[in-house]
Amino acid sequence: MLSNPAFFPAGLAAQGARRTPFPDGGAWPCARAGAVLTIDLGAVASNYRQVAQRASGALCAAVVKADAYGLGAAQVAPALEQAGARQFFVAHVDEGLALRPHVSAACGITVLHGPRPDAVAECLEHGLRPVLNSLEQIGWVRDVARRRGQVVDVALQLDTGMSRFGLAEAELRQVAQDPSALEGLSLTLIMSHLACADTPADPANAMQAARLRAYAAMLPPAPLSLAASSGVFLGSDYHFDLVRPGAALYGVAPNTTGPNPLRQVVRLQGHVLQTRALGKGDRVGYGLTWQAPGPCRVATLSVGYADGFARQGAETGCVWFRGVRLPILGRISMDSMTVDISALPEGQLEADGMVDLLNESYGVDAVGTAEGTIGYEVLTSLGRRYHRVYTASPAP
Ligand SMILES: *Cc1c(COP(=O)(O)O)cnc(C)c1O
Repeated sequence: MLSNPAFFPAGLAAQGARRTPFPDGGAWPCARAGAVLTIDLGAVASNYRQVAQRASGALCAAVVKADAYGLGAAQVAPALEQAGARQFFVAHVDEGLALRPHVSAACGITVLHGPRPDAVAECLEHGLRPVLNSLEQIGWVRDVARRRGQVVDVALQLDTGMSRFGLAEAELRQVAQDPSALEGLSLTLIMSHLACADTPADPANAMQAARLRAYAAMLPPAPLSLAASSGVFLGSDYHFDLVRPGAALYGVAPNTTGPNPLRQVVRLQGHVLQTRALGKGDRVGYGLTWQAPGPCRVATLSVGYADGFARQGAETGCVWFRGVRLPILGRISMDSMTVDISALPEGQLEADGMVDLLNESYGVDAVGTAEGTIGYEVLTSLGRRYHRVYTASPAP
């Protein structure tokens, strides 16, 4: 994990992707990996500022679960803190413990799933705020708070329609009517989650917001939170007191109704291992599913499904070289894929060259569409064996 710009392979691509000897005589560190994943922390920071600005009446937290959606919470969280984030959300207690050393002590860390019974003490000892999602979980944390003679800050989740996490209405009434239910617990956030926020016209959005208001009125007053990334873009009726964006920070489009206002954060450059010329009728890959309709040239890339490029992306997927689209041919293998390079002048892309699998104009959402999934899944599937480079481009 190198952040020294001297290691940055941008020059490589710009020069037509020939390997250059490293100053000490060794190979570029990226030459040892199949592909180079460049993560632009400047774009993450600028996306955070943009989202915070859109929700300017509310506090803007940052969701860094799943290792910051696969991009590396140890690098991403400090960049977000520098951009102004003071509240971080993770899914598991483990993730909260791992994040703690990477943000300052003044930053809050909230655990969306809350603790299981055996992890409550550890959760509280490390100052992680649990989200309490069920009556059982309220009981577990209340018991530990009582035993420790401590008042514990908690967030409470209410189910407003998604049937995934949080108290159902009947359970909420039970809590609201029992003065001892929240004994020893200080309610510092009441939250819920939108099921259809990426579809602004869906009536479920307004219904969930109305339910959150109505439900919260049954509880002691506390700040409210409903919106994740897409919810922020629904407008101020959805912002309440705190917004919880994740995906938008990493460049995923908040909805499909307009152009993506966010900056792309990742670039993925894969190495060409070899090229070859094919004649009419030659076939490509496992199952020999693709057959050349005529003479063509192909390249084998050292990125495959074990690196997070789903096999189902093969039919409509592509990679790019200097703005030229290179379609994926046949099935994607575990460690490689084959692409058609006939659109390039002969000699322009050869063994040891690099192509873009993700870049500024072909981002995680585009790859998600090709793979029949969403940008979120492409992002969180990005392989662990890429050579990772962190850069910080300046604000635009
Ligand atoms: C993952 C998650 C978020 C962040 O969602 P994005 O769509 O990535 O912004 C916010 N709140 C909850 C409860 C989540 O599970």
